[in-house]
Amino acid sequence: MAEKKLVLTFSSEQVNSPLTFRLARDFEVDISILRAEVTERGGKLILSLNGPEDGIRGAIAFLEENKVQVGEVARFVVRDEERCTDCSMCVSICPVRAYQLDKKSWKVVFDQDRCIACGVCVDACPALALKCEDHLTQTV
Ligand code: SF4
Ligand code: SF4
Repeated sequence: MAEKKLVLTFSSEQVNSPLTFRLARDFEVDISILRAEVTERGGKLILSLNGPEDGIRGAIAFLEENKVQVGEVARFVVRDEERCTDCSMCVSICPVRAYQLDKKSWKVVFDQDRCIACGVCVDACPALALKCEDHLTQTV
């Protein structure tokens, strides 16, 4: 089993086609949509694909055959645990809920697997505890 986080860029003609539904049905991959910015003029989806490696490869090839631009999220955010004060600022602004406040310990827990490296929390952290390790989004 494998996981890939992808950025899909759609044109206006592709917005209403059931492409993501076809991925799940035809390639046996589980899809989690992490972020969607779609209008009638086109848009971007950031999603996570989980499944067998050949299924993921097939799904990417299918998208490209359908003229969807496919990139891989290759950035990630790291947190300096020494600097973090658990202020929770990042909890409310993260668009994919990568931070959760643990109500027992009052610590902010970071789930790096959910992160799409948008950089919003890096700019917002008052303790300067966060940084992006790599700002590239690679074409698959
Ligand atoms: S905003 Fe920074 S200091 Fe505050 S909880 Fe998040 S990582 Fe820690
Ligand atoms: S960079 Fe920060 S705000 Fe953006 S997805 Fe990752 S954890 Fe959330």
